[in-house]
Amino acid sequence: MFFVKLGSSCLSPFIERLFHCVGANHRQAGYCSLTGAKQNLERLFYLIEFAKLSLPVQPLCTQRIIMTQLTITKPDDWHLHFRDGHLLDETVPATARCFERAIVMPNLVPPVTTKAQALDYRSRILAAAHKYSHTNAASFTPLMTLYLTNDTTPATIREAISAEIPAAKLYPAGATTNSDAAVSGIEALYPVFESMSDVGMLLLIHGEVTETDVDIFDREKQFIDQHLDPIRRRFPDLKVVFEHITTADAADYVLQGGDSLAATITPQHLLLNRNDLLVGGIRPHNYCLPVLKRNTHQRRLQEVVASGASCFFLGTDSAPHTKHAKENCCGCAGCYSAWSAIELYAKVFENLGVLEKLEGFASHYGPDFYGLARNTDTITLAKEAWKVPEQITLANGDDIVPFFAGQTLDWKLVS
Ligand SMILES: [Zn+2]
Repeated sequence: MFFVKLGSSCLSPFIERLFHCVGANHRQAGYCSLTGAKQNLERLFYLIEFAKLSLPVQPLCTQRIIMTQLTITKPDDWHLHFRDGHLLDETVPATARCFERAIVMPNLVPPVTTKAQALDYRSRILAAAHKYSHTNAASFTPLMTLYLTNDTTPATIREAISAEIPAAKLYPAGATTNSDAAVSGIEALYPVFESMSDVGMLLLIHGEVTETDVDIFDREKQFIDQHLDPIRRRFPDLKVVFEHITTADAADYVLQGGDSLAATITPQHLLLNRNDLLVGGIRPHNYCLPVLKRNTHQRRLQEVVASGASCFFLGTDSAPHTKHAKENCCGCAGCYSAWSAIELYAKVFENLGVLEKLEGFASHYGPDFYGLARNTDTITLAKEAWKVPEQITLANGDDIVPFFAGQTLDWKLVS
């Protein structure tokens, strides 16, 4: 159900007729609720805009409609880092707050490389979720992934798919946190990609080259040319998710990639650019990998999500580090966005004027691409200002600074 608040000047007979014709079923004190089809609301916006255009002398509706509540299919997070051990007590409930499922990255120490390790990790996550049975955490479903190394074999893949592990992650060695065990010489994995393609396992890619002579701002583009495009040409049926894309090059490559290619996009890459990392002092809590890019790339990412293209979906890359590890002379990469994830995306879509496109991005396109059912529950966000905490203190006394700490968000998850 959608609620719209109307300015008093809207309450003219003409607007009342509009409500009637789009099926608004209740209106009082300047509020109108539209139940059922979301298209009703879109039609209403369209008709009012049309009325303003066609009646230039005295517009009948001069005040913007403000959406004050938004109910969408419960979303999933298609890329995040829970870490392990006592951190699960923090990260799992924070994500289960608003997401039904999450694709869990396997870059632990040691990494999750086998079915047995993935299932063990899964039970540790579920144990943490069940501690919080009073919240949504009890119904939370982690979707596990394998970490590809030079020791991964087609047999490893067949075993994993038998345990409903839907995906494996390719990290070029040294690309990000705990990726030292990863693949050097990606072509050596082609037999593994072939078996993934055969059994229908998705390949998730951290798409950056790691050669030291390549500028950090160019690493994603080079990865497309050197590795991603050859992999996709060789295995056209292999479903690939280009994770946490950051550049116009990646967005455009995915747009023309056909049905077997999609990408996740993080809140930080939609909300920020490299000025937010480097201007006026280094901002360690905005530091992540792939690193924030120039604003032209940020704008292209905003354009593609605003277009509603179904090859782009939600993946926060939420990745906690302690405050000490971030505010350090060699600070760690990663933004811990779970505390405000869906609200941050709502901010992005509202800023772009396409709030009605949030549901597809957050709740529909991910499961569609993975071949899983969409969730049947819903969540509701209300237009209500709240402040992201300055920091969170874990049970062991460590502090974590969440992404967007101390800043105000206009949308809040209410149920
Ligand atoms: Zn990640």
